Amino acid sequence: MLRVVQTALGLLLCTQLATSVCPDTVSRQDWGAAPPVSRQNLTSLPAPYVVIHHTYIPAFCNSTGACEVAMRGMQSYHQQTQHWSDIGYNFCVGGTGEVYEGRGWDVVGTHAPNYNDRSTGICFIGDFRTELPTPEMLAAAKSLIACGVERGSVSADYKLLGHSQVRSTECPGTALLNEIKTWPQWDALNSTST
Ligand SMILES: [Zn+2]
Repeated sequence: MLRVVQTALGLLLCTQLATSVCPDTVSRQDWGAAPPVSRQNLTSLPAPYVVIHHTYIPAFCNSTGACEVAMRGMQSYHQQTQHWSDIGYNFCVGGTGEVYEGRGWDVVGTHAPNYNDRSTGICFIGDFRTELPTPEMLAAAKSLIACGVERGSVSADYKLLGHSQVRSTECPGTALLNEIKTWPQWDALNSTST
């Protein structure tokens, strides 16, 4: 009987793993986030845009502990200095390919003017002007976007943008921008209707 139950549980777990593309995510609680001052849900759901960023500062982090410090540092800067309600991004990706929950799904971020209320903002922790994120980071971001589509938070025909396409900034860095230009749903934006 016990064996039957174990087998059934094993099948259940396998089924769950096989049917979700969502990456494991380090929760706000896990990285020691402060509470948001306020939260506003996206009114455009599923989000029609995904906007990619790099942090530039903080620098690349290659351990969970270092990335958690980076997340806390960003949140503190965004809340205390910028007076935003929370860390600006919806999610961040660290050097080991771990995904860190920022504001999370379906919440308006502070990362891209005119797009905050209709996009999911994903940041890569580090400076990617000349160097690419690790393959693990790129794979994690792709899984995260696919997860957003799967759960109905990101439109299936979303447009992928780099921050510099919607604002004058170096973000997400030339190397990373050139990388995402090769992803299937990257959109040139200026040459197409919005
Ligand atoms: Zn940015």
